[in-house]
Amino acid sequence: MALQNKYLADLLETVKKRNQGEPEFIQAVTEVFTSLEPVAEKRPDLIEAGVFERIVEPERQIIFRVPWVDDNGVQRVNRGFRIEFNSAIGPYKGGIRLHPSVYLGIIKFLGFEQIFKNSLTTLPMGGGKGGSDFDPKGKSDGEVMRFCQSFMTELCRHIGPNTDVPAGDIGTGAREIGYMFGQYKRLRNEFTGVLTGKGLTFGGSLARTEATGYGVCYFTNEMLKANGKSFEGQRVVISGSGNVAIYATQKATELGAKVVTMSDSNGFIYDENGIDLAAVKQIKEVERKRIKEYLNYHPEATYTEGCSKIWNTPCDIALPCATQNEINEESAKALAANGCYCVSEGANMPSTPEAIDVYFANNMLYGPAKAANAGGVAVSGLEMSQNSERLSWTFEDVDGRLKKIMVEIFKSCDEAAKEYGLEGNYMAGANIAGFLKVAEAMKAQGCV
Ligand code: NDP
Repeated sequence: MALQNKYLADLLETVKKRNQGEPEFIQAVTEVFTSLEPVAEKRPDLIEAGVFERIVEPERQIIFRVPWVDDNGVQRVNRGFRIEFNSAIGPYKGGIRLHPSVYLGIIKFLGFEQIFKNSLTTLPMGGGKGGSDFDPKGKSDGEVMRFCQSFMTELCRHIGPNTDVPAGDIGTGAREIGYMFGQYKRLRNEFTGVLTGKGLTFGGSLARTEATGYGVCYFTNEMLKANGKSFEGQRVVISGSGNVAIYATQKATELGAKVVTMSDSNGFIYDENGIDLAAVKQIKEVERKRIKEYLNYHPEATYTEGCSKIWNTPCDIALPCATQNEINEESAKALAANGCYCVSEGANMPSTPEAIDVYFANNMLYGPAKAANAGGVAVSGLEMSQNSERLSWTFEDVDGRLKKIMVEIFKSCDEAAKEYGLEGNYMAGANIAGFLKVAEAMKAQGCV
């Protein structure tokens, strides 16, 4: 649907012209602007202060060469990115994605989303994101290490514990963060909390690994509760089998649900008895193999090649935890037709705009990524606090704080939606609540 507010509609046209060839970034800005129309009407002072114009333009975009040598002695070159999008409320904060699909538009959409997500956490963190088109899949540990060291050799000039604090994302787990942290320490000769998601022996936070997946379930649980439902006895479809998917599966199961699917980029498994998470962890975290190996543990389960049919699985709740735009209009219709009444996003922007229209048309509960998956960055913020204090909090302490933050995030989305006459539209609520805090800070700091 076209924007009704002329100021935002004209600005969106400018954004489209200025960022050609970046459809994911345009998609993210369009969604946020759609939600912000009532804010633009109510707050002309924010238009006057140039906040809308400034918030869609990254403060800094860094693109760099990442040369490294593979195991056969062949020189390879990847492209590295760091988008320092907005520092109005704190140092830039956001993960590093290592995946062959990475290009400027993907990192910009993720960085833009991160501004609002970080604001929702209530912690003082600005928005940023980074990555590379390097594919860690199939590479040896040595190759991954040489890549990470080369990546950090350039990145270290731009980041710091009070400037920009990267973390993990697709393709960047504990191994990659470890190699990057080691290289930063060597180059700068300082031991600081410059990255989050670190190993527990060198400043990592307990519960950071679990945080995004757990957080998705805590947020979803609040949304369900507010609508008279719960996870208890529900059938849940989860996509992905990486960090977010694994811990979302664990928490949803603990909350009484039965998770029946998981996937990777090749296909998905379906286990009517409920996913055996120990088997998935062995395959994915220890052996780094493909999800179809699950059939070696559970021959009664099924494996389907390709990812899109996962959304045809009958379920009550769907938690997409793999990647952007994994649910299109057709998949959303299949979910609705098969009885799914709730979609809550572990991945960033996993639903296309057409899919979101289907959710609303069918009165489904919809938990948008920037609210539902904010638990990861929230605990990253808590890791920064622990690093500053040079203390380590217990798992229970961090998990308890995470739960509280996710409850607060749901409350902010709910209240903002109500305040703007959009009750039950948590997407609008998340965008409005996330935006307003950053907007006030940008206005107060003047034209910078
Ligand atoms: P991982 O790399 O640990 O796992 C990603 C999973 O998604 C893998 O199963 C992967 O399969 C699958 N996947 C990746 N790309 C595609 C694709 N193009 N098509 C189908 N499947 C794909 O990443 P995370 O679990 O960390 O991240 C998953 C999502 O959650 C991302 O959108 C990320 O931005 C978001 N997120 C992550 C946070 C975190 O703390 N890690 C925080 C907030 C959001 P395969 O192994 O075959 O590639």
